[in-house]
Amino acid sequence: MDNQYDVIIIGGRIAGASLAMRLFQQNLRVLLIDRATFPSWPAVPSSPIIYPSAMRLLEELGFAEEEYACPEAKVTHVVMDMMGKFQATFSTELMQLDRSYIYGIDRHKFDTVLWERAASLPLVTARDNFGMTDVLKDDNGRVTGIVGRTESRTEERFQARLVVGADGRFSQAARKFGSRPFEELNDYPSASFHAEWENVGRYSETMQYPAALFQMGNGYSLLCIPLGNGKYIIANYLRTADVNAGGKKAEETYLDNLQKVPRLREQLKNARRVTPVVGVRRIDNGYRQAYGDGWALVGDAFHYESPLDGQGIYNALLASQFLADAIAEWQAGKPWLQAGATYQQRFYGSSIAMLKQTVKRVQQELYTSPPPDFVVNTLLRWMLTDPAYQQQFLRYLARAIDPTTFSFSPTPGPIMRGLWRDITGKRR
Ligand SMILES: Cc1cc2nc3c(=O)[nH]c(=O)nc-3n(C[C@H](O)[C@H](O)[C@H](O)COP(=O)(O)OP(=O)(O)OC[C@H]3O[C@@H](n4cnc5c(N)ncnc54)[C@H](O)[C@@H]3O)c2cc1C
Repeated sequence: MDNQYDVIIIGGRIAGASLAMRLFQQNLRVLLIDRATFPSWPAVPSSPIIYPSAMRLLEELGFAEEEYACPEAKVTHVVMDMMGKFQATFSTELMQLDRSYIYGIDRHKFDTVLWERAASLPLVTARDNFGMTDVLKDDNGRVTGIVGRTESRTEERFQARLVVGADGRFSQAARKFGSRPFEELNDYPSASFHAEWENVGRYSETMQYPAALFQMGNGYSLLCIPLGNGKYIIANYLRTADVNAGGKKAEETYLDNLQKVPRLREQLKNARRVTPVVGVRRIDNGYRQAYGDGWALVGDAFHYESPLDGQGIYNALLASQFLADAIAEWQAGKPWLQAGATYQQRFYGSSIAMLKQTVKRVQQELYTSPPPDFVVNTLLRWMLTDPAYQQQFLRYLARAIDPTTFSFSPTPGPIMRGLWRDITGKRR
């Protein structure tokens, strides 16, 4: 039958498109839908960086880097500017991984490359401009398919043995399936707003394209990421309650915060903003139940988190790999509810420690009063300019170490080495 599939996937970006590619490898007949029309920006605005961890999973899916990233957006240095008091430059070579760099990603291009690859596969029927409006259930409450419609409102119905919600952090599929969060860590609500800029000045004489993190220490930070073709995305992370502080609109708050950083203000002197300011006012952190009778969730629909550590793309690719493994087990005869439970537990186990650390970082960077100047100029400087600390931080972001072994606070090793550098005149 024409409207019958093995798996229907709602949402065709990172989680959905990558899952379709993996299910194609299992010879499954897939319907992949998205209400957006590609090429398009993600519905939930994102200002992304990716690490070698995500590149490795993309390679596994058959992508060469030049297909999804721009050479100019290859980042080999990350500068941390600490309240204008000192700058610490982290060389990404310190990661000591298969790749010694990270990328700023243009999501418009990146998402389209993924969608088009999935759509080109013979067993995948891809329909953009087609939104799911409801799910079909049988008398026992088992999900059996979807109802959807095009922009012109023509309604269509499709059946499948499994329906997957890959429709992002505000997942409508989760609501229709009856999925609820089973763990949330929302004590420190944060927001993120960003825009793209052109003609941004060089960061310094020696560095043209570093990613620069401006830590302001009083409830907000700014991240400047090269996207290639002369474009930068500049993101402002802040506390949710501050987005409209003083009766300001989110866009005003964003532009004001950019102007408060002298070095960034200088870089933006001749720059032009080329996109509207977009963002998310309240970014929750947590997990929803990821499986049930006839359904599953993947990507942000399953696990949503603060973007401060830039883990969303990797997590979406990883969860889709784990879900594809669970579907293979189901195909081989394991009951779906058992395979789904293994999937949920496996992904939770791989991500919860990182999520807890990210939340700790949100608390420390946005909700903790700035340390006194004396501490910034000694302990913090010693820590952030210590190559061993820098290596651990980069490897933490690249998911190359157990996140619980990484500390954001100064520890004896970096302090002693920093003190020694100062004493011996090798101040960095
Ligand atoms: C401000 C911000 C900054 C971020 N920065 C980073 C970063 O630096 N690095 C990083 O790795 N991650 C980052 N992320 C996270 C990253 O963007 C997400 O983790 C990632 O996009 C999740 O992919 P996804 O495929 O699960 O969902 P999404 O990208 O949200 O895609 C969901 C898709 O589902 C479609 N859809 C929704 N409802 C329906 C429906 N009813 N019918 C049909 N289709 C539907 C939408 O149109 C959309 O195309 C950031 C996120 C935010 C909010």
